[in-house]
Amino acid sequence: LQAELFHAEKMAGVGNFAAGIAHDINNPLQLILGLAENLAEERDLRTIHEQAKDIIEAVKRTSAICRDLTQYARKSSVNGDSQVNLNLRLDEALKIARYAASFHDITVVKRYGTGAVTTGNPDELLHVFVNLITNAVHAMDRGGGTLTLTTEAAGDAIRASIADTGCGMSSEVAGRIFEPFFTTKGPGKGTGLGLYNVKTIVNRMLGTITVDSHEGTGTTITLSFPPPRGVPP
Ligand code: ADP
Ligand code: MG
Repeated sequence: LQAELFHAEKMAGVGNFAAGIAHDINNPLQLILGLAENLAEERDLRTIHEQAKDIIEAVKRTSAICRDLTQYARKSSVNGDSQVNLNLRLDEALKIARYAASFHDITVVKRYGTGAVTTGNPDELLHVFVNLITNAVHAMDRGGGTLTLTTEAAGDAIRASIADTGCGMSSEVAGRIFEPFFTTKGPGKGTGLGLYNVKTIVNRMLGTITVDSHEGTGTTITLSFPPPRGVPP
């Protein structure tokens, strides 16, 4: 029943914000339409390439918005928990995030430990990592930087951290990032649902999130999960 109520609340929230979201999706769609119309008439190969790239970027943004919304509206999973390997999920998320954001000038460093396994829904954990990696890459969209993915099994805590050398956050922004619909990104660029979804999923997995961010230096988000259930310590 609690899950039902929670779902109803979430859906009501979606209803209230539906117009805003439709607007957010319509913005990049209009851009895509305009670019595609130009493209249909364009003869200069270099211009065609540029416009095609702009279309790809706009489609990536739109599809990331849709993914956030889908996860937000999804019923909380009661079933479907299994042992999930953080390293494998991070690798998978990296592939998906490459379709959601531009990795131009970004160096990816992996520091994976062994035994980084917890219990949860693999699809939801994937969604968590895609969101965190996408945010990290967005934070480095000026001038590039380094994305560092770290995992470790340290006694009772199974940890994964996503670190970027991007713009960082002020303490005001950092204090609000888990609020639904809070975003500092422009129209059509962010839903503000990413980290809200992340927190909902991590809470359900009995995990915790810590945020370490410095303006102009970068951000490290660390997730800490319990060891896998049903496995002796
Ligand atoms: P969205 O990405 O759609 O804006 P999120 O919930 O994912 O929504 O993030 C909310 C806000 O938190 C972002 O708009 C941004 O201001 C801030 N943020 C999140 N991750 C980072 C990061 N790695 N570096 C800097 N700011 C971040
Ligand atoms: Mg986001």
